[in-house]
Amino acid sequence: MMRPVVELSECVLCGVCCSVCPTVFILNDTGYIEVAELDGYPEDDVNEAIKNCPASCISRDKGA
Ligand code: SF4
Repeated sequence: MMRPVVELSECVLCGVCCSVCPTVFILNDTGYIEVAELDGYPEDDVNEAIKNCPASCISRDKGA
């Protein structure tokens, strides 16, 4: 699947995505959620994060 994207202006830093899918969503040193650069993304876990994000700010990259 495509790399997910987090709309940081909407993110409330609840940490749900990091709990559900820690290989992809990382709270970085500057205090924002970062999407890891991976060769592939675990679709089920990413979908779970998308579903549970309270701000609905995770989406699939529509580019590329
Ligand atoms: S689940 Fe959504 S609101 Fe919560 S930290 Fe992740 S991207 Fe931000």
